[in-house]
Amino acid sequence: LLRPDGSVASTIFAEMTNLALRTGAINLGQGFPDVDGPHAIKEAAIRAIENGHNQYPPGTGIPVLREAVADHQRRHYGLDLDPDTEVLVTTGATEALAATILALAGPGDEVVTLEPFYDSHAACIALAGATHVRVPLHPTPDGFRLDPVQVRAAVGPRTRLILVNTPHNPTGTVLTRAELEVVADAARSVDAVVVTDEVYEHLVYDDAVHVPVATLPGMAERTITISSAGKTFSFTGWKIGWLHGPAHLVEAVRTVKQFLTYTSGSPFQPAIAQALADDEAPRALAASLAARRDLLCEGLVAAGFEVVVPRGTYFVVADGAPLGFEDGTELCRRLPALAGVVGVPVSAFCAASPGDEDLSGPTTAQALASRVRFTFVKREDVLREAVTRLAALR
Ligand code: PMP
Ligand code: GLN
Repeated sequence: LLRPDGSVASTIFAEMTNLALRTGAINLGQGFPDVDGPHAIKEAAIRAIENGHNQYPPGTGIPVLREAVADHQRRHYGLDLDPDTEVLVTTGATEALAATILALAGPGDEVVTLEPFYDSHAACIALAGATHVRVPLHPTPDGFRLDPVQVRAAVGPRTRLILVNTPHNPTGTVLTRAELEVVADAARSVDAVVVTDEVYEHLVYDDAVHVPVATLPGMAERTITISSAGKTFSFTGWKIGWLHGPAHLVEAVRTVKQFLTYTSGSPFQPAIAQALADDEAPRALAASLAARRDLLCEGLVAAGFEVVVPRGTYFVVADGAPLGFEDGTELCRRLPALAGVVGVPVSAFCAASPGDEDLSGPTTAQALASRVRFTFVKREDVLREAVTRLAALR
């Protein structure tokens, strides 16, 4: 986490957002919506403030929110949770990930993730002092896919956690049931816990189906499931997330959470409990995002990029190689001047140095060097302007 000169690295999202602010370019780098979530939910938070929800709430989260999470998981996925012992409210999925990894992994343990990976996954593994083992996702016309042989090879006697993320940031892949079964088999074979980051659970498109790992046979007892209100309800700044899993694991995570944040945003909790009871807003958001995905993908293709069409998330990965850009980082540095748009190089979601398993071939960072992630969680007029600007690259 430290640069060789001792300074602290800032996240790639902060860096790219600063670049957009400095240059006036359209920020398709950091994934956050430019339209807020439902008005009624904002009003619920305002009411909660006025009604005195302003001091520390219970450390595990207010009961109505834990019950709303349990009810949501039952309604959508048929999962049966005890809201008192199996659900924990967190300060966004970011804290859920940090507390889980710090609670369950340490020096000498291996934590397996997909690669590319969300940046905080790798940072938290480093903070825990554990070893990061990575399984590459491979670009295909049908999305970025896992190779079952590589999943099995990555798992061994030192594997404590297998961290998956579906729908997947940055690739937009929705892992299939068959892919998740391979992960589940691997976890069972070495008695590992699966941690699954499902923050984009409702943002799936076309005929893609989100399969929670905890719904696979025998997996609820060894899975920590993480999600967040940020993505589902377009309140990324409220930082209300949650996790659920078997009581003994949730208890271990809660112990760590006490010393990270103690409790999470009082007035937002009743508002999100209200949001979770209504499935219409996420459905409408997914439909609108599917249309915006099409708009951006078509624009990127027209500009000369090659695109792997995402089935979920806020993001599309575009390949700059057909335009002559072999280095996505270089392309992202130049994009504001060339086209007035900001993206994030996919290599920022990959390890800088090879793992043991990479020694025989190119690293994932090298294999995906020319790829750039763009977000489509922006207003349609913003995306239209971005697409018009990107056409200048031809
Ligand atoms: N996991 C993934 C895959 C994400 O994309 C994000 C947010 N961009 C997070 C976790 C963090 O979620 P939160 O804002 O709820 O902390
Ligand atoms: N998750 C969002 C993204 O991937 C933003 C994350 C952040 O700013 N840390 O762009």
